Amino acid sequence: MLIVGAGIAGIATAFFVLRATRARVLLVERDRVGCGASGHSAGQLTTYFERPLSDIADTFGWRLAADAQRDLEDAHDLLDSMVGGSGARLRIERFTGYLAMFNRAQLEVHLGSLLVRKRADLPAYVCMVSEEADFVEELPTELDGLYEVVPQAQVNALLEIGGDRYRAVLAEPAGCSNSSVLCQQVLGHLLATHRDRFAYADYSKVEQIVVSDDRVVATVGAHRVVADHAVLCTNGFVDHVAEDEGGVPLRIADDQQITGRVAYMAGFAEDSARLPAAISYIRNEIIGGHTPYVYVTRRTYDRDGDTVTLTCIGGPEYPHEAAYDRDAPFPGPLLQMLDEEARPFAQPARPPGRPYDFQWHGLMGYNDCGLRVVGAHPRRQRLLYNLGCNGVGFLASIRGGHRIAELLAGRHVPAGVFDPRLVVEPVGGH
Ligand SMILES: Cc1cc2nc3c(=O)[nH]c(=O)nc-3n(C[C@H](O)[C@H](O)[C@H](O)COP(=O)(O)OP(=O)(O)OC[C@H]3O[C@@H](n4cnc5c(N)ncnc54)[C@H](O)[C@@H]3O)c2cc1C
Repeated sequence: MLIVGAGIAGIATAFFVLRATRARVLLVERDRVGCGASGHSAGQLTTYFERPLSDIADTFGWRLAADAQRDLEDAHDLLDSMVGGSGARLRIERFTGYLAMFNRAQLEVHLGSLLVRKRADLPAYVCMVSEEADFVEELPTELDGLYEVVPQAQVNALLEIGGDRYRAVLAEPAGCSNSSVLCQQVLGHLLATHRDRFAYADYSKVEQIVVSDDRVVATVGAHRVVADHAVLCTNGFVDHVAEDEGGVPLRIADDQQITGRVAYMAGFAEDSARLPAAISYIRNEIIGGHTPYVYVTRRTYDRDGDTVTLTCIGGPEYPHEAAYDRDAPFPGPLLQMLDEEARPFAQPARPPGRPYDFQWHGLMGYNDCGLRVVGAHPRRQRLLYNLGCNGVGFLASIRGGHRIAELLAGRHVPAGVFDPRLVVEPVGGH
């Protein structure tokens, strides 16, 4: 089989497919291993979707939403089994992450998600609301028991800020690691241990995939690759073609179609060591509004001969139209905006305008349904997908790789919210 893309999704897919089946696997990458979004991630190990769980439940029903959530939470164990099974040596830090909210609408949506968790018997998360929040008395009684009322000082302490803007905080299990290092080390392991049935080619772009009933034929540079299945792990890259033997493009439902978006991030080494952290601060009055949330990631960073605390700040993402250039310079005004708006959350003692140690961007795949696409094309089962991170994808890519392996091993995989769906043709359409 052919796997396209050597980010964490492609590497995890290769790892679990090789473990679960006797398949021969070729992994191809247009650039180098772990150089896509996986090489530009903040490294947070989070188990939330960009879209609130309560919203997913409204669309797909609470059972499927809860299954998806449970699956994602299982990915912590899958990560550990990848690390253990490959002998990868990398730092994994686990701790509690926080989401900062300031109004009743935000809180109600996230308490709605906790209600889904409760209904599905998922482990309870702690939500704290400041006793000074003027909306605390107005919360519907069905949400009683899903939050605790605490002093404002406790909210501020957890969010590492002062003032009284943020009135509520949701605590979730989180962590941090380095997905690029994981990709490199797992690849090295697979090459060393599966020489008879695993091969890897970098600087090899897949231009076209033609899927028929009995095989897949891919054009990879000047080469033609024939395989029994192909798995697209291409995330935000959309400049390849997948079609049937009659030349009809193999599309999935419109709301699952991927478009690329670029996210930006800046990082600095702290002057003295700090504990790891993952904190997101909502800034929109309404969910889905235009002010991006900002997020702070703090983790232990091993430099040559030195270990420091690395703090990263990010948030804004932009639709991407031209061909993505990973070496394109970081836009100066954007860095200034991050410095003015996000730095005070991360390290208020850091003076404004100080140069950052790192600044970078990465391309990610988004779609309108806000959910990753994992599984086989409904019309052509030889084409599979594990892509579309929608902003958060470290653990979800690993979970996706495991799900693909289960499918290819012929195990029963229940239908779920990530399944590729068919394009709904207008009546009388083709
Ligand atoms: C700034 C930033 C911060 C982030 N922070 C976090 C975070 O803290 N936590 C989190 O969970 N997620 C985070 N993400 C998202 C996370 O990085 C991604 O979800 C994850 O790395 C996606 O992995 P992937 O393998 O699907 O995609 P990628 O790593 O992008 O891999 C896709 C690969 O496919 C290759 N490819 C594409 N097209 C072709 C082709 N035609 N032929 C051959 N190869 C091809 C690409 O070169 C690329 O290497 C962040 C992303 C960015 C950009």
